[in-house]
Amino acid sequence: MTAPFLPFTRPTLDEETIAGVVEVLRSGWITSGPQVQRFEAQLSEFCGGRPVRVMNSGTGALELALELAGVKPGDEVITTPLTWVATANVIVRAGARPVLVDVDPRTRLIDLDRAEAAITPRTKAIIPVDLAGLAVDRDRLYDLARRRGLRVIEDAAQSMGTRWQGKRIGSFGDLVCFSFHANKNITTTEGGALVLNDAAEARRCELLRLQGVERLADGEQEVEVAGAKLNMTDVAARIGLGQLPRLDEFNARRAVLARRYFERFDVSLGCDLPPDEDAHTNWHMFQPVLPLDRMTGTRGDFLRGMQAIGIGTGVHYPALHLFKLYRGMGYGPGDFPHAERIGAGIVTLPLFPTMTEADVDRVCTGVRDILRPLLRPVHR
Ligand SMILES: *Cc1c(COP(=O)(O)O)cnc(C)c1O
Repeated sequence: MTAPFLPFTRPTLDEETIAGVVEVLRSGWITSGPQVQRFEAQLSEFCGGRPVRVMNSGTGALELALELAGVKPGDEVITTPLTWVATANVIVRAGARPVLVDVDPRTRLIDLDRAEAAITPRTKAIIPVDLAGLAVDRDRLYDLARRRGLRVIEDAAQSMGTRWQGKRIGSFGDLVCFSFHANKNITTTEGGALVLNDAAEARRCELLRLQGVERLADGEQEVEVAGAKLNMTDVAARIGLGQLPRLDEFNARRAVLARRYFERFDVSLGCDLPPDEDAHTNWHMFQPVLPLDRMTGTRGDFLRGMQAIGIGTGVHYPALHLFKLYRGMGYGPGDFPHAERIGAGIVTLPLFPTMTEADVDRVCTGVRDILRPLLRPVHR
């Protein structure tokens, strides 16, 4: 008997949540309504009482955050090339210039010294990304932002439940964006949230989220800004209400499975493993970097080999400055050597809460069996 296919991720949706969604569908009110309000209240409590507004995607939350931070055409926004392309695309769509800086090779996160060196009089904001759920150093980040007068838009799409010095990401700082895409640690199928600084910013966020429409007494309306269309449905919010109370449980299970990876992974293969920092991650992903300089085969050969033995993998992410769009802005090979090496060799292995320890062992055996024949023999 062959083992069933093991995907690289899989959402955990319980029967109570599914029944709740059916109830919303039968209720007669399926778009933004009471479930959205309840979900926002739950998220606000999760974020230590800060105002939170939900959107129909994490990308939408980032776009709105840039607008609230006052990012305008001609401005510069500093970020990392090693992220989902959404992080940089939203800067381009705001008419601003993404100023990319290389990552720290150990953490794979934006190098804050390089970020500081890239600041110019046009720099309006910085977007740190907690890749794989590992927190960017918030002490150094906010020290930098304060000293240099920058807005911070945290791309915390992958770091729901991560803590920095014991405090949850989202419970402090400037603007914080979460994603509830199907692959994230909690999901609403698609969705996102933006954590805001005060009631005035939250009010402005509400207007920008839905056509700029202000509802007045006696059914009158007023519009002063051309808002977007980013609201979350009650169907999606009901899923989130069933997910958020289970986040800590999901993340604890991820940590157990990550520990098992560290115990069972064959280090003689020469892969770079992710930093072993339980206190500052939610283990959104477990990602070795393949030893490409020691390989005769390619990453593609490895991914195909894994697929053939029934194990799903992913690539998160290629360095984005090598995409045509960003090369057209003057970026190119050699600009960010760490991001390029990591982006070329990184692979995401299966990690999700309903996996078993035996699944992890199977992946580790599979990696060894597929990778070993792709390695150049060692000459002495
Ligand atoms: C998922 C993700 C986003 C975008 O979130 P969506 O909900 O898919 O729009 C942005 N940045 C990073 C780092 C992500 O992982």
